[in-house]
Amino acid sequence: MNQPIRYCPQCGSGDISLKVPGGDHVSRQVCGGCGYIHYRNPTVIAGCLIERDGKYLFCRRAIEPMKGKWSFPAGFMENGETAEEAAVREVLEETGAKVEILGPYSIFSVPHMNQVYIIYRATLIDFVAEAGPESDKVVFIGEEDIPWDDITYPAIIQITSRYLEEKGKGKFGLYTGSYITGAVHQFS
Ligand SMILES: [Zn+2]
Repeated sequence: MNQPIRYCPQCGSGDISLKVPGGDHVSRQVCGGCGYIHYRNPTVIAGCLIERDGKYLFCRRAIEPMKGKWSFPAGFMENGETAEEAAVREVLEETGAKVEILGPYSIFSVPHMNQVYIIYRATLIDFVAEAGPESDKVVFIGEEDIPWDDITYPAIIQITSRYLEEKGKGKFGLYTGSYITGAVHQFS
């Protein structure tokens, strides 16, 4: 739960106030009835950049936000799953593709959105299902046809262009940072 509360999820009281709990340094919503502290923390988004035969799997969003824009598949991690499981599941749900993860590729934070993205490199095994309702087009796109002006977020552009550049050098690194600044760490 990452939204503010009006009622305590633990005891139902409406006596919610903002205060800094003892030993803490951030203001939180605290229940005057039972002492429940409402922590709000970033959400994790997992996804994959999927290559097959020099083309990359992109989907066009059928829903808001960013309806009509292109991205590779990624979505919110669920409780009880690993980041890798989340990435593979999101790809399957959004595109119908079953993929195998090759390695971590980009871990970046978007502090103003309270989000952390974990993006993997992956390869296609097969299409095993229909694309989900979030996408109205799912296609492999060659480098020359990537719709750079119609991509959802700057981070997706950054990851994709870095992938193409590193592929040209024959060596993939691991990026960590924000979506604007950060560092690429080469391991091989
Ligand atoms: Zn309470």
